[in-house]
Parts: sequence; structure tokens; C-alpha cells
Amino acid sequence: MNICRHCFSCDSSRVRCTVCVHSVFVCVQSCHATKPNMLNVHLVPHTHDDVGWLKTVDQYYYGDRNNIQHAGVQYILDSVVDQLLKNPDRRFIYVETAFFYRWWKQQSSSMQQAVKQLVNEGRLEFVNGGWCMSDEATTHYSAVIDQMTIGLRFLNETFGPCGRPRVAWHIDPFGHAREHASMFAQMGFDGFFFGRLDYQDRAHRMMEKEQELLWRASDSLTPPVADLFTGILPNGYNPPEGFCWDQLCSDPPIRDDPDLEDYNVDDVVARFLLIANSQSLVYKTNHIIMTMGSDFQYENANLWYKNLDKLIHYVNAQQTNESRCSLCTLNISEREIFKCARMFYFAVETLYCSL
Ligand SMILES: [Zn+2]
Repeated sequence: MNICRHCFSCDSSRVRCTVCVHSVFVCVQSCHATKPNMLNVHLVPHTHDDVGWLKTVDQYYYGDRNNIQHAGVQYILDSVVDQLLKNPDRRFIYVETAFFYRWWKQQSSSMQQAVKQLVNEGRLEFVNGGWCMSDEATTHYSAVIDQMTIGLRFLNETFGPCGRPRVAWHIDPFGHAREHASMFAQMGFDGFFFGRLDYQDRAHRMMEKEQELLWRASDSLTPPVADLFTGILPNGYNPPEGFCWDQLCSDPPIRDDPDLEDYNVDDVVARFLLIANSQSLVYKTNHIIMTMGSDFQYENANLWYKNLDKLIHYVNAQQTNESRCSLCTLNISEREIFKCARMFYFAVETLYCSL
């Protein structure tokens, strides 16, 4: 029997989410438990792999011409999958199907089976899922639909329902078109996350706690056809300052041997809680997201995961029942974010109803 985590799907109205168990699929809750009375910090390990930027797509895939930019996506996927298989608590999202397709066809059938299991269990989750993360300013809508179709079709044919991205993820386009959000809503995405917006808009939204919103993305389509929950990420798509543990970063690792002079667990935990708390002040709910990764990161995923494992362990170990911070997940948790966002979405919807 196949096991699929996708136990939630939106009904046709796209307003109310219902439990929908496919006859041949058993739902597995892939998200770690959250605590309603605490601040739940959702860590999202991710890599941002441009499908062509300073190098060609093939140079990026193979890690060629690293004198231009150090980036090799084949090694990223090798390393991440290896690290996911080592610890069932770990999570990762992957976005750009153009790269994943290249990697997948080079894998042995036993590795493909192992990756399918990771996907089925929600430990590796695809988001966005188009061939690339398209630009929103210069693209024609037909090209956007075509490239999304190619990527999503591959994921569907390869992984079935468990490989279906639930969330659109445009963390690097320089500006966001309303029509693009409308297309994402009509493609059936549950939500949309992005990282870039005008600095004055961001400042205003932080003050008003409006960094999560229901985007009504069309004037002509009858609501809620083009309505889309939209979340603005807290720090572009980068990790919080001081918490980047990639080989491309130089932040201090967690040194947790108390015999060492450089033991720094107390300092790391204190800094993390400070950042989490200040982030919680500019979002509405007690669920906040942190993107743990950036451009072409996770080529040596051990660095990230070893330190994230420790961060989760030590922050949670310090929590008491009275504390508001529960670092609950090493987790994409788009599902959890959406569950949290869903409450907010309902609140907005209620507001619309009462107007
Ligand atoms: Zn980019």
C-alpha cells in the first residue's frame, strides 16, 4: 500500500479545507507536533538553485566553472538525500524541477525507491515544482503555464499525489505580479510564499502585522477562485543572522562540548530565542517560519543538519511549559504553516463576510 501524507485538500470552493483520504492512500502526518500555547518556530531547510544565472543550467548542475560561482546542484541533491536518510526527523524542500529531473534520471532504481519513500513520508517535499522559478515581470502567461506544466507533470508521473507541491514558492523574483498569483490560485496551490517586496511596504506590513494575507488576485474572477493565502518570509530567503551553517557561510558552529573553552550553546540558544521573539512581534500568529538555507547551499548538507539538530535539541531542552518558544520542527512544515495560516485565512474570510 502506498503511504501519502496529503490528507488535506481544499474543496472546490477553496475556502474550507476538508480531510480527503484517497482510497489507496493512507495519510501520514509528516509535521512534528506543535504546541498551541507556545511560539512554534518552523525551520525550513532549503536551497535556492537558479536555473541559469551567472552560469548555464548545465554548469550549475555539474558544478562546472566554479571560478565564476561555486555551485553544483548534483552534489546538493546527493548530499541532502544522504542526510535525510540518516535521520527521520530531518526535512527538506526542493523547488526547481529542471535540476531534480537531471538528478533523478541518473539515480539507481534502489536510490529512486529510497527517494520515493522520503517523498511519501513528507521528509522530502516539493514546493512550487515548475521547471524553474519564473520571473514575474517580463514573462508571458503562456510561458509560465508551460514551464509549470512541464515540472508538475514530471513530479506527478514520478511520485503521484505525494509529489504534488501544495505551495507556490517565489522567493527570488524581484517583484510580484497580481496575475501570477491569480494563476497560482487557479493551479490549485494552497498558499504562496515570497521574499522580496518594496521596503516601505514591508515596513508598513511589519508594523501592522500584515505579512500574511489573503491575496485577492483577480478583479474579474469570482472570489474565491483567485484568492491565495500569501506569506512574506522574514529575511528574504536567508536564515536569521548568525545562523547560517553552510560551507558558503562563516557563522560559528554550535560547540557543545562543555570541556571546551569555546563552548557556546548558551550563547546560541539565547541569540536564537531573541531573534525568534522579535520575529514573532511582526507576525500575527504563534507560528513563524525561518528559511534555513540560501543560494546553492547544502552542497555539504552535513554542516547544516548537524548544527540544526543541535539547535533544535538545545533550544527545546531549555523550554519550560511556561515558555512561549517551542522549536518544534526541523521541517518544511508548509503544511503546518498552512494550518496556522488557515486560521488566519478564515479570520480574513470572516472579515469579508461581515463587511
Ligand atoms: Zn535566484
